[in-house]
Amino acid sequence: MDIPRIFNITESAHRIHNPFTPDKLATLGAALRLAAGARVLDLGSGSGEMLCTWARDHGVIGTGVDMSQLFTEQAALRAKELGVADKVKFIHGDAAGYVSDEKVDVAACVGATWIGGGFAGTIELLARSLRTGGIILIGEPYWRQLPPTEEIVKGCQATAISEFLTLPELIASFGRLNCDVVEMVLADQDGWDRYEAAKWLTMRRWLEANPGDEMAKEVRAQLTSEPGRYAAYSREYLGWGVFALMPR
Ligand code: SAH
Repeated sequence: MDIPRIFNITESAHRIHNPFTPDKLATLGAALRLAAGARVLDLGSGSGEMLCTWARDHGVIGTGVDMSQLFTEQAALRAKELGVADKVKFIHGDAAGYVSDEKVDVAACVGATWIGGGFAGTIELLARSLRTGGIILIGEPYWRQLPPTEEIVKGCQATAISEFLTLPELIASFGRLNCDVVEMVLADQDGWDRYEAAKWLTMRRWLEANPGDEMAKEVRAQLTSEPGRYAAYSREYLGWGVFALMPR
């Protein structure tokens, strides 16, 4: 079981697989006022940077579930590197339907809400692991500006304008799901650059090391087109943020 190989190639060097910088991740950890020993569940935990740094900085206890074998292995290595291997564990598997045995203080899905069929379903899934008074974290894109043409929607790799909401609409929809938005930290364009542009050097190096690989043609095509696509479309039109929610 694994995610499509293209992501394991293009994001192999990422510690954070979303437009947050280490700084933003730390800001979010501080904003949540995490207590030492707080339990955190992270669905789609990637390479584990959130759980590992929060375990180091705030003493949280964490479980991450991720479908990428590579990212899960990297997460375990990162936990060792930061000296928190006794505080966090990473499970390689499908997080769809995953509910923790013990209730958690923070239940997160940061940039992987397809796991619950969209953010509404993911909030429902996370709520099943959450203690009363706990916090749900949702990391989600939104339109920074509404794309005026269909070409721009496609350029942002969205199938339709309805795939994302604007920030006020996204916040309103959390309210309609009976959640208070109690905190939020938003990515900026520099953070988007770290997420997107970091893939380009990874792709270039991967191509040099793997010229005969069956994925080489696809990776070459992406390396050629991605910088221009990203600069013209996603960088201008897409925002991203993590929203802290408490069920009413
Ligand atoms: N939250 C992490 C990773 C976000 S990228 C971070 O912010 O760094 C999306 C992640 O979801 C990837 O790590 C991918 O491997 C994982 N993923 C995709 N489908 C999944 C599924 N069904 N179950 C668990 N993880 C999944």
